[in-house]
Amino acid sequence: MHDLVIKAATVYDGSGTAARRADVAVDDGRIVEVGPTSGAAREVVDADGLALMPGIIDTHTHYDAQITWDPMLNPSPSLGVTTVIMGNCGFTIAPCRPTDRDLVMRNLTHVEGMSLESLRSGIDWSFETFPQYLDALERRGVGPNVACFVGHSSVRTFVLRDDAPRRAATAEEVAQMRALVVEGMKAGACGFSTTRNMQHNGEAGIPMPSRLADEQELLALSSALKESGRGVLMMTKDATTPMPFIEQLAQGAGRPYLVAALLHSEMTPESTFEDLEHIEAAHRRGNRLYGAVSACPLTFEFTLHEPYVFEGLREWQRLMKMDAAALKATLSDPAFRQSVKDELAVPQRRLFNGDWKKMFVTQVAKPQNKSLEGASIHDLARAASRHPLDFMLDLSLGEGLDTLFTGTLLNSDEEAVGRLLRDPNSIVSLSDAGAHLTFLCDAGFGLHLLGHWSRDLHALSTEHAVRKLTAEPAALFGIRDRGAIAPGKAADLLLFDPASVGRGKSQRVFDLPAGASRLTTPGLGVHGVWVNGERIADADGIVKHAPMPGRLLREFAS
Ligand SMILES: [Zn+2]
Repeated sequence: MHDLVIKAATVYDGSGTAARRADVAVDDGRIVEVGPTSGAAREVVDADGLALMPGIIDTHTHYDAQITWDPMLNPSPSLGVTTVIMGNCGFTIAPCRPTDRDLVMRNLTHVEGMSLESLRSGIDWSFETFPQYLDALERRGVGPNVACFVGHSSVRTFVLRDDAPRRAATAEEVAQMRALVVEGMKAGACGFSTTRNMQHNGEAGIPMPSRLADEQELLALSSALKESGRGVLMMTKDATTPMPFIEQLAQGAGRPYLVAALLHSEMTPESTFEDLEHIEAAHRRGNRLYGAVSACPLTFEFTLHEPYVFEGLREWQRLMKMDAAALKATLSDPAFRQSVKDELAVPQRRLFNGDWKKMFVTQVAKPQNKSLEGASIHDLARAASRHPLDFMLDLSLGEGLDTLFTGTLLNSDEEAVGRLLRDPNSIVSLSDAGAHLTFLCDAGFGLHLLGHWSRDLHALSTEHAVRKLTAEPAALFGIRDRGAIAPGKAADLLLFDPASVGRGKSQRVFDLPAGASRLTTPGLGVHGVWVNGERIADADGIVKHAPMPGRLLREFAS
């Protein structure tokens, strides 16, 4: 008697080979048969007309705080995700001394797009070291399977305390940080992550600590993975981080390097492809670099109270430290406006490059402005014979900065993004699930790849799309027993209707600790999601579950 048989599905096994009609039988959380199955089952799911694939592996999430109050990691499982990698970009919450908790939360509030109040009332701080953090997650149980990076900014804050976002480290401090990375890897981390990105700031524009690291520190911490002989290095770089340096880090550690974020920019259309060319050349030199690419256009909803999209501009850095009155005064200042216009006149790979056609008024605060909703700043400014920046700032100032804007900033040229998605050295990633919660929700990136890119645009076959979401990330992270439908593999499964699969419209919900809001998207065409053989989601979303079916992953192939 099998625990579960999914009958007559079109099976995409993750390898990229042609789909075939088969039954899949599951016992004790593992796949035991693929093909015609024998014997009865406690649960039979008729999957005629539906597609079955391994559960999606989301390699770029930021659930590190959320997981302590929501181990189900809403909404990812309802969007077909059965394994998440947390701690990307070095933003983690362990190790952390009790006295530094507020400092760490103040850093997270900005990049995670979550209020300090939510983090304060939400995070369960029942740990201090990284190994204790993993133990705490495991004790409590996890919904999907979870793997964690050791994060550079946490390690740096643990050693340098208040100086972490201020200065370079001494040789002694670097040695202490390196010991923490080694300790984390021994405890079961999946690798070491960091960021160099100008966009990554804590509260009041304080840079994320890892941005202060010099080359020696990065070399020393990355090479800690050489000792463990396993794990992945990951970095969110910025336009000024040279690829040869990243390759040097990969070579020093002898480990694969996942380079984020290779988002296509129409202002510098060749730069992501140049990065991928460097990555391909690195492989020929024996260095395993991969580019993290995204299936989603990068879209932000924001107000000028906290305009994340502008904060990558040099001229905007000082505004992050201002109170409301000083902020409003500066936004009205013609000299400030001119300096922003001048900076935007020099195209660079950054979040916002002055492409006003892709900046929209989403929701106005005053009824008399209602007619502006849905229009682009470009069109509105032209009609008013104003510079777009002046138009946008004046509109916002006139509404107490409460005007809601949407910027479709990067990754919206579908021909170019299709090429990025198909690149043999790209990893389809960058959902940022658990971060930027007030601005966007791309947790449904996998369903979007299957529906939009594969079914609608034919940018890649469904077999290829499935491999990109499953076997490729599993191989990169050394997750041996997942990312494939085959006897002996863990029963992480996604059953979907290929005719309707996709992600729904984003919605604002108010369910964060302290009642704060976040954006979420429903899955479309999802019929069932299983983690280790237990159903975790169905067509209506997440299924309540006790005990939690996921595993904390601590063992990775070398
Ligand atoms: Zn990130």
